[in-house]
Parts: sequence; C-alpha cells; structure tokens
Amino acid sequence: MKQYTTLLKFGIRAMRDTSPRILWKFVRNFGLRNMTNIRRFEKRQAKGLPFFPAFVMISITESCNLACSGCWVSYGGKKKLSCRQVDGIITSSKKKGSYFFGILGGEPLMYPELIEVLSKHPDCYFQLFTNGTLLTESIAMQLKKLGNVTPMISIEGLEEESDARRRKDDVFRRTLDGVRACHKARLLIGAAASIGKSNFEELVNRDYLRLLAKEGVHYLWYYIYRPIGAEPKVENALDKDQILQLRKFIVEERITAPLQLVDAYWDDKGSALCPGAVGLSHHISPAGALEFCPPLQMAKDFINEDGSNLSELFEKSDFLAGLRKLTSETSRGCILLENPELALRYVEQQKGVDTTSRGTVLQEMQQMPQLAGHDLKGEEIPEKSMLFRFIKKHYFFGFGAYG
Ligand code: SF4
Repeated sequence: MKQYTTLLKFGIRAMRDTSPRILWKFVRNFGLRNMTNIRRFEKRQAKGLPFFPAFVMISITESCNLACSGCWVSYGGKKKLSCRQVDGIITSSKKKGSYFFGILGGEPLMYPELIEVLSKHPDCYFQLFTNGTLLTESIAMQLKKLGNVTPMISIEGLEEESDARRRKDDVFRRTLDGVRACHKARLLIGAAASIGKSNFEELVNRDYLRLLAKEGVHYLWYYIYRPIGAEPKVENALDKDQILQLRKFIVEERITAPLQLVDAYWDDKGSALCPGAVGLSHHISPAGALEFCPPLQMAKDFINEDGSNLSELFEKSDFLAGLRKLTSETSRGCILLENPELALRYVEQQKGVDTTSRGTVLQEMQQMPQLAGHDLKGEEIPEKSMLFRFIKKHYFFGFGAYG
C-alpha cells in the first residue's frame, strides 16, 4: 500500500511542479518512444541485425567552467563537436528509433549553440548533464520553451564536500541556485551524484533525498565513483560493502522516497549489468569518437564532418563489438573497476586511439588498480519497488549479452 501512496504523492507533485506540456513531452518523447525503441533494439540484437545502440550519449564539448577532482574530461580541453555533427548524430539515431539522448560535456552550457541545436529536434528528449552553476533563470526559461529537456544537475556533496570536490568556493550555493531556476521554470529536474568514500555519508541517506525533493528535484541518479582521468583519486573509490550498502539503500528507499531513485547498474533481480557490454548505450566524445562509454576514452571509429556515417560506424565497428564481447564474457560488472588490465590489453591490441586533449589515457589505464565494482554476485538484492521492478524487467536487462 505504501508504494501506491508514495507514487500518487509523487505524481501529484510532478503535475503541480511542471506544466501539462512538459509532462506530455516526457510521457511521449521519453516514455512512449523509448518503449518502442527498446523493443526495436531487442529485435536487432535477437535477430543479429546491424548493430545500433538503444541510446547514444553525446559529449558535445570538453570545455568546463570547473575542474573537479576525479573528472575524466581533460581540464582546459577545447575539443567540441560541430553543430552539424550533433545534428547528424541525432538525425541518424532517430532513423534507428532512438529519440532519447544524454547531452554531456565538460559543461554542455559552455556550448553556445546548445539551445539552437536541441530546438531542431522537438520530437526527441534530452537529459542535460550539467554542474548547474551556469543554469540561470534565462537559460531555464529557454529549456522550458523547448519543453523536451530535463536538466540533471550533478551535486557531489553538501557545501563543504561539494566545494572541495569542485575545487572552487561557493559551487554548492550556485548549483542550488541552478536547481531553483529550473524549479521556477517548472522543469522536470534531476540530480546526479557520483558516490565515493568522501560523500557517501552525506548523500546516501533519507535527509538528502528530502532536501532535494524540497528544492523541487524529481529524480536522483546514483553513480558509483570511478577513479578515472588525470587525477583519479583512487582512495575515494567505494569498497564492496559500501556498494552493497548503496544497493540496499536504493532498493529500500524507492518504496517511500519523495523522489525517484535511478541507477544503471542492476536489473529487476538485482543482477549487475554494464550498459556498454549489453550495447544498450555507447558514447560519442567531443572528438567525434565512438566510445564504449564516457570513461573509456579510447576508440578507433570517428564520425565524419556531419555525423552522417554514424550508423555505418556502429554497424561495422570491430573495436566496439570486440569490447562488448570481452566485457560481457568476463563480468556482469564494470571492467574499468573490476578488471582494468584486461581493458588496457584490449585497447593496446586493437591499437585504440586516445580521444582526449590530454593524450595520457594509456598511461592512466596502466596505473588503474583493480577495485570493487557493482557485480554483487551471490548477494543480489531484487527490486522491491513495483515501478522499478516493471521498468527494469521490461526495459533494462541483459538483452542476451550474458547468455
Ligand atoms: S564499463 Fe563500467 S563505466 Fe563503462 S558502461 Fe560498463 S559499467 Fe559503466
């Protein structure tokens, strides 16, 4: 019974906070279109039809106004996709039935043509990964005008931890100002947190969920901190018990939490999966590279000047096909955490290219230690939330990748 009242309360809040148009765009462009998209993807996989992922994450620029510790994007990097390339990626993906895109950076609000590019695709749905510090009321109102963008604002701790991780003062306040601007514009708002040892206590508790809901946030996406990039901060990585605790918290809290808790690690039975291994999502880097996932910054396939060769590249990429096979055969979890040496050997054998401005990815991969990942074999915790049990059972599972 508790689940029904919680969902009802959440539904009422979402309707009160947003507008019928914003909600309808979410239901149609995200909900209904993804239901068809996932079935089409499932059919492609089952019938061995030309490969194309269900979702394409697009990092449009390396530029950022912050330089957070543990970030895998090159500080001060200038690589960016052209508007024609972003437009081409979206257009090619739509032909395959994929209308939902994660828009990442660097900081995507540092991309001057962002609104212009997104406005060409009113039939799509965009999740904007942003640090929120540049999310002014004027920007929020422009996103409202588009109607098909949910800003997902990364908050990496409360005041002290947030500013420390972001290595700048006042970031936490400016980020919350961004959330408030989105709330005022009546947008569907998300928050994201990359959980490591330093922010576990602060962000994995009911009080934090209440704080976000009070600020008008509708969903919180929990990520497990990956020590990747120029300054990986390995000591901040979670151990197995903490990952198990995080899983327990998400499953328990989903029943009565005042906002939706999202993860892309476990299916309805609590078994781990890697979205890259399953082919569910892949990433286009600011250099136009087809990457397995955002933190694995090595590739062999690059889009052309208008992104029109995207489908052909996904279909023919031996590099990505080999990496999907390797990761799905070795673990259900994260190869970057659980077996970085294997990932390194693969990209070296395949003569993968470093796709970053800093050009030090291979050296970084050589330093990566083996760490705990989200494959909690033998300690799987099934979903209790009926909503997430349904969503995961029908739209987020192995698609045959794990046999
Ligand atoms: S390799 Fe790790 S970071 Fe990449 S998609 Fe898989 S689980 Fe996620």
